[in-house]
Amino acid sequence: SAFASLGLAEPLLRAIAETGYDTPTPIQAQAIPLVLAGGDLLAAAQTGTGKTAGFTLPVLHLLAANPVHPRATGRPRCLILTPTRELAAQVEESVQTYGKHLPLTSMVMFGGVGIHPQIAALKKRVDILVATPGRLLDHVSQKTLDLSGVEILVLDEADRMLDMGFIRDIRKVLALLPKKRQNLLFSATFSDEIRELANGLLHNPGCVEV
Ligand code: AMP
Repeated sequence: SAFASLGLAEPLLRAIAETGYDTPTPIQAQAIPLVLAGGDLLAAAQTGTGKTAGFTLPVLHLLAANPVHPRATGRPRCLILTPTRELAAQVEESVQTYGKHLPLTSMVMFGGVGIHPQIAALKKRVDILVATPGRLLDHVSQKTLDLSGVEILVLDEADRMLDMGFIRDIRKVLALLPKKRQNLLFSATFSDEIRELANGLLHNPGCVEV
């Protein structure tokens, strides 16, 4: 398929075919090779463009291609931050769908629900964590979550996160991550505040606009 020429592994191509996708969307065609090459990414993309698969597919590929032994519990390798619980749940569902033939695990966490089931879930292996910023920091302060193994950070709908006042939380999270990591920033709009965040976060990013 056209997805194969982007360089994605066979278990992902199988999941894509089962999902019924035939052709990559423009953001996927541009973003997937950049992310697979290991670079940072700055993407201007609205909802509905296929942006979620644009980052989840290459993230799954990279994590599966570089397995970690021993696999630690409560120590995610990829952190995806979203502004809302609805978006977090949708993104994690995409991770599950596209990653169903890979030996990777994921978890979603957001506020407004009990913290104890999340603490229990973190006692298992979690490769990909999708979270809203506030609840993520609750877990960090309870020491139930260790962010020192994060290899890839994704900020999804970064403009909405800033609109919702999450900048301080985002900066706190960034300070907890290893310095050497891959960063992907998705935003529908580009205000001065987003540019400032992107400038501080991204190193020689590939830029994609759709
Ligand atoms: P998103 O912009 O990530 O919210 O995705 C919008 C919708 O497009 C979702 O319902 C996806 O399932 C769908 N989608 C994503 N990629 C493709 C593709 N390559 N072909 C067809 N549909 C897609």
